[in-house]
Amino acid sequence: MIDTLRLTAEDAIGLVGRRDLSAAELHAVYLAAIDERDGELHCFLRTAPEVGGDSIPIALKDVISTKGVETTAGSRILDGYVPVFDSTVAARCKAAGLSLLGKTNTDEFAMGSSTENSAFGPSRNPWDPSRVPGGSGGGSSAAVTAGLAPWALGSDTGGSIKQPSALCGNVGLRPTYGTVSRYGIVAFASSLDQIGPVAKNVRDCALLYSIIAGRDPRDATTVEHPDPVTLPEADRIDGLRIGVPKQLADLAAIEPGVRAAFGRSLELAEELGAEVGECELPLSFEYGMPCYYLVAPAEASSNLARYDGVRYGPRVEAATFREMVERTRDEGFGPEPKRRIMLGTYALSAGYYDAYYGQAQKVRTLLVREHRDALSRFDVIATPTSPTVAFPIGDKAADPLAMYACDVLTIPSCLAGLPGLNVPCGLSEGLPVGLQLIGPQFGENTLFRAGYALEQALAFDAVPARLRRPGTTETS
Ligand code: GLN
Repeated sequence: MIDTLRLTAEDAIGLVGRRDLSAAELHAVYLAAIDERDGELHCFLRTAPEVGGDSIPIALKDVISTKGVETTAGSRILDGYVPVFDSTVAARCKAAGLSLLGKTNTDEFAMGSSTENSAFGPSRNPWDPSRVPGGSGGGSSAAVTAGLAPWALGSDTGGSIKQPSALCGNVGLRPTYGTVSRYGIVAFASSLDQIGPVAKNVRDCALLYSIIAGRDPRDATTVEHPDPVTLPEADRIDGLRIGVPKQLADLAAIEPGVRAAFGRSLELAEELGAEVGECELPLSFEYGMPCYYLVAPAEASSNLARYDGVRYGPRVEAATFREMVERTRDEGFGPEPKRRIMLGTYALSAGYYDAYYGQAQKVRTLLVREHRDALSRFDVIATPTSPTVAFPIGDKAADPLAMYACDVLTIPSCLAGLPGLNVPCGLSEGLPVGLQLIGPQFGENTLFRAGYALEQALAFDAVPARLRRPGTTETS
């Protein structure tokens, strides 16, 4: 019997390759797991109508356009919208023989840190269903942890892959900006959005990244990755220089249990041969969040202008064109996109542009330089991924600023366009803690190498305690 809670994508590919199981049978095994557990967890907005590939299945966040399969971005304004084309990442998955298992839940237009902003109801954390799985890609992340998909794709604007991976205890990569195509992705903030893999372990994560990365003539911001992706296999990281930002010490938001697990993983890194030192990111921690919350809403307000009741999804009929657009947008968007459209429109308006958007762009340049300086002395920067473990559903839903603060540690490197990997590094109060490793542009292979060695040494059991089957352990 196959235990999807433990089966890695690499092992699943082996099973199908050796014909121990057909691709269709494996697909059916995952659909059965979804039937069994997704009623509680609500990771999927819909499962795919038919099995296509000859390899293994994959789940895609619902901001990723899939030909013939409804794509809503967690919003009522896209209810019933069925793309007539595949996004490049969906097409690359298909070309690699992967079959679409289903589309996963997300905060509306990927705006949020808990999936509670989804118009279709929140997803739940497989470690404790009374808690959030993180967001916005909580559906993809919870699905991988709960064995409902061998792997998945998410999107990360300010932390939406890394933070849910931290809260669910799996491995998530936000790639270097420009290494993965955004063609066919429901746009949130185009200068920040990146598609990336969510997986059970670092090798699966690297494998999936190798499938989706690369230049795409349909997205002019893409480049070819300079080095081929290598699957990590070394247990040691001798000589790897790890920088820990001095400013972490003053961040009161970091829970003691998170600090403790983070500290232990640094000690382990030293035992594996790494040199751990202190780096400086003062501007990033002070101005990263305010800068992001000008840049991202400004770009969102422009990107979301296309939902007008004409081009996509539902329409509210009215006497005049203007009224139709107004009413469609009023009924179609939930509170968070409306908030961001207002913030962004204001920041971009004549008279305020220089003071807000223009100023934020200058700050962004300073953050790029600050990271570049730190990464000239260190190979990677390490921080916790999320200041807290998974919080109860409803805890921050009424307080947008508290929700925004979830990403204080993930946002700065996103603004700098840098890759970041979450690796689970232990438990606090019985819930996963994530370690964030940030690399230089195109530093994915270094992140995989460091992440893999730490993963082996940490030996974190990624199956939530409440779902472990008697007699199964990590190695069985
Ligand atoms: N939580 C952040 C936000 O709400 C990041 C979301 C994301 O990365 N898509 O904007």
